[in-house]
Amino acid sequence: MDRDDLTEHLKFAKELGVSGVSTDPAWRAREHAAGTNVEPTLNAEPEPRTTISLSAVDGLAAVRAEIGDCTRCKLHTLGRTQIVFGVGNPNADLMFVGEAPGADEDVKGIPFVGRAGQLLTDIIEKGLKIPRSDVYIANVIKCRPPQNRNPEPDEVETCEPFLFQQIDVIKPKVIVALGKFAAQTLLRTLEPISKIRGRVFDYRGSKLIPTFHPAYLLRNPSSKREVWEDMKLVLKLLNE
Ligand code: URA
Repeated sequence: MDRDDLTEHLKFAKELGVSGVSTDPAWRAREHAAGTNVEPTLNAEPEPRTTISLSAVDGLAAVRAEIGDCTRCKLHTLGRTQIVFGVGNPNADLMFVGEAPGADEDVKGIPFVGRAGQLLTDIIEKGLKIPRSDVYIANVIKCRPPQNRNPEPDEVETCEPFLFQQIDVIKPKVIVALGKFAAQTLLRTLEPISKIRGRVFDYRGSKLIPTFHPAYLLRNPSSKREVWEDMKLVLKLLNE
């Protein structure tokens, strides 16, 4: 990491509520102790990422082909520009799942590219120190609901099997459910996000951690502290 990267990383950590880091070598050595249950340090270098296997690429291509130019639910008549399938490393260890594409995503065909997306990118790249292209990002539903309303139950029921297929192809170690809608939908619960965030759930062979949605963080920046706690847990699970 060069000096500029480090400065930016520390600034971001401070914004997330981290008050300092230790320069004690013993403290840094903790994270390298084999198999121990330790918190990752801010200065941790990213783990080498897995290479893309053809089968995962093919698997995702098959899911995308099955979706086609989807007309299965009413969203195709309600102003969507295109299907927003998902983006990232088909062999990712870490997957983020949001709610549904917004206006920017609908235009670009890529999840999380608007203001909330920029914050998510910062959480991934400046917080977790993982290139965004090494994780996978998708949504519970793949078409933009009109006026960004919440997805309706029939839309979720129709679309979420494709998300499940994506998860089953990618087999991430860790899934982060972004916000109330994704967390409650995936976990089939009505518990408030404030109660379930930061907890680890077994989910389709992965560990799932709910956290606050980046759009919520834009309105409630003080909650970034909790998200940083959740991201430390994500790093710990990734390193296990
Ligand atoms: N919010 C989401 O939940 N998903 C996106 O892709 C963008 C914003």
